[in-house]
Amino acid sequence: MVLEVTQIGNPVLREDCREISLEELRMPEMQQFIDDLIETKRDANGAGIAAPQVGKPWRIFVVEVKNNPRYPYKPEADLTVCVNPEIEFLTEERYLNFEGCLSIPDLRGKVPRCPHIRVRALDRHGEPFERIVKGITAGTFQHEDDHLNGILFPDRSDPKSFASWGEFAKRYEDDVRESVTAIVAEWGE
Ligand code: ZN
Repeated sequence: MVLEVTQIGNPVLREDCREISLEELRMPEMQQFIDDLIETKRDANGAGIAAPQVGKPWRIFVVEVKNNPRYPYKPEADLTVCVNPEIEFLTEERYLNFEGCLSIPDLRGKVPRCPHIRVRALDRHGEPFERIVKGITAGTFQHEDDHLNGILFPDRSDPKSFASWGEFAKRYEDDVRESVTAIVAEWGE
């Protein structure tokens, strides 16, 4: 079922989300919720989505990038469900990622992101996993993880970098495509 995406101003987007116990995770209702979260992400063409974006202050997010019309230049990323994730930065380096958010209509802005991270989380069945994520995809994981701490991308942006989606397409998309290509060339994703 496609769920309604919460919009900026809804206090759930500013909550410090809570961890999910193994018992809760294994409940059929929670498995259905995760299916719905994935379906909602796909329906909205998001690169990722986090539980508070559908009204639940829970530490769960999903990342998946495949032929994405919202971000045609993003490298593909397989579907990953992260429960109770922890992100560790593996380099001091940062790059500027031009981000948007399903919960913030018609706004994009540049956000500094770490291009080399380790993600530790539970998968949807409660199995712990660890993954190194790099480059642009690492930025997507950090954006989703921020949602679990009540942080939205404009909190981390220089407001002077803000652009509507129309202005972005007109003025910045070619440059961004170029810088994304350079990041992917350096980091592999
Ligand atoms: Zn978002």
